[in-house]
Amino acid sequence: MEFLPTEAKAPEDADVLAPADRRRLRERALVEALERRERSGRAVTGLEDVLRAFNAGQLRRIVLREGFARMGRLCHWCHRPSLHEARCAACGKRTEAVLDVVDTLARLARLQGCRVARLRHEPLDDLRRICGDLR
Ligand SMILES: [Zn+2]
Repeated sequence: MEFLPTEAKAPEDADVLAPADRRRLRERALVEALERRERSGRAVTGLEDVLRAFNAGQLRRIVLREGFARMGRLCHWCHRPSLHEARCAACGKRTEAVLDVVDTLARLARLQGCRVARLRHEPLDDLRRICGDLR
């Protein structure tokens, strides 16, 4: 039996230690589950729909393609991200441009207790590169 120092077994190291094939299989299974959920109306796909669901407080998990980025807008008053809103749809104040609204969304989502998963192997093309799992 191979000995590993205990500090190498922290949960965040699990993906590093696991063979890439195992991660690939896990990602495929996750994507297939999300595709089923989308067909039954329990998940939304595409950045615009994911942002809308997030702003409505409907998401429990966001799954996105690693490296997926888009410019967008952010209301700094109520922290509402959007793709194109020059004025915040919630408070009416002017929004500001953000270089990567996908990253902004991921950070805000985590702060609200929403899980965020980034996929390395699955392109997520059929799910429009980002998917939101509804509560
Ligand atoms: Zn606002």
